[in-house]
Amino acid sequence: MLHPAAGIIRAIMVSGYVFAIVATMMLSNGLVLAVIMRDLPKELRPAANVWQAGTFIIAFGSAMFAIASAQPHPLLLVMVNSAFLIGLLFYERALAKFYDYRSSAIHYIPIVAGACSVFWFSIIEENFKARIVIITIAWCWLMLASARDLFRARAQDDSASRKVLLYIFMIMAVFTALRGAVFVTNPLPTDFSVTSSASLLNLVTPIFMAVLPVLGTTSFILICSDRIRMQWEHAASTDYLTDLPNRRTLTRRAEMLFNAAGRSNAPLSVAIFDIDSFKKINDTYGHEVGDRALRHVAGILNAEADLGTMVARSGGEEFVMLFDADHGGKTESLRKAVENTPFSADGDMIQVTVSVGVATRGPLDRDFSDLLRRADRALYAAKQGGRNRVETSLPAAAE
Ligand code: GH3
Ligand code: MG
Ligand code: MG
Repeated sequence: MLHPAAGIIRAIMVSGYVFAIVATMMLSNGLVLAVIMRDLPKELRPAANVWQAGTFIIAFGSAMFAIASAQPHPLLLVMVNSAFLIGLLFYERALAKFYDYRSSAIHYIPIVAGACSVFWFSIIEENFKARIVIITIAWCWLMLASARDLFRARAQDDSASRKVLLYIFMIMAVFTALRGAVFVTNPLPTDFSVTSSASLLNLVTPIFMAVLPVLGTTSFILICSDRIRMQWEHAASTDYLTDLPNRRTLTRRAEMLFNAAGRSNAPLSVAIFDIDSFKKINDTYGHEVGDRALRHVAGILNAEADLGTMVARSGGEEFVMLFDADHGGKTESLRKAVENTPFSADGDMIQVTVSVGVATRGPLDRDFSDLLRRADRALYAAKQGGRNRVETSLPAAAE
């Protein structure tokens, strides 16, 4: 006895409505991406364009199925299968562009193999099962290639949207493999066709086909917006010239470290490095060389920073280093490193020196600004003492 719902499903399937609905959903999602495209930063647009093309190609394939009869022409099958495969390849290309990977030509293999097998096994020598096996492998290949791109990006992108898209591709690959296995292991009715209602799986197939173009496209839009958010966060916390943390980040981190050091009575030191007579470098060689001098000093300080040390550009030609252990002779060796590493500009070797003021947290420091103020006073003493030297503020000096 047939369930009444099965009759409705059958009617929908036969008339191709399900593919029409699915194609419309895909198309609308592609259009949403097209509309928001102009708001995306320039560097994300190439990836978004390729993703959008993938969605439109898959929508086109589904639309072809919608207008096909229950027994579609074999050539139409070739066309539709090729469209699905090319759409999946476009998704992989979009992700490769998004994460700046070199995309490999090896992914043309499933496209060519898939299209040829559909042609061969539906026109030359009809063999539905052979066709399904090869198409299943081709789909899984391309979906897993996208999943691999997303997985490789885990270190650079920890957004939830990346994980969602990764899971979508993996679930789709698993479903595709299961669907293939069911088709291959079950006897087929004689009038079987992939657009007919002979198997309930055939109703699930177009719905699953819609997952990537619809949910996938939404997730892709979200990874784009997460990328933009991360760029803003980076810009707000980093100095654009040296790529070091800026004053805001320094203050936030320093206050946390100061409070933690107070609770555990651990040492905490701060050193301010100020480039000597920097104005003269600007005046003699120009502002651009001045900028390079800043990057040069930032590079030396950053390269020497250990675990538990933070270097930030606190402003102008001033850098601040935090040590969550005693600074020991570290500041003196950093001063020497700067002095002994000239940098070249326009054929000249330019020597840069720094004066350093250091202070270590003592019982009289109430907060980080107290500590910083003492380091600043020590820096002033280093400048007064002739520059290119380290002066340390003694804890007893804290009033
Ligand atoms: P001192 O040895 O006493 O520290 O002298 P100084 O010349 O280094 O210090 P001063 O404060 O007189 O001059 C700092 C100069 O740094 C002035 C400012 O124009 C320059 N400066 C600040 N930010 C930048 C920057 O981002 N790029 C360049 N090129 N110059 C900068
Ligand atoms: Mg200064
Ligand atoms: Mg200076």
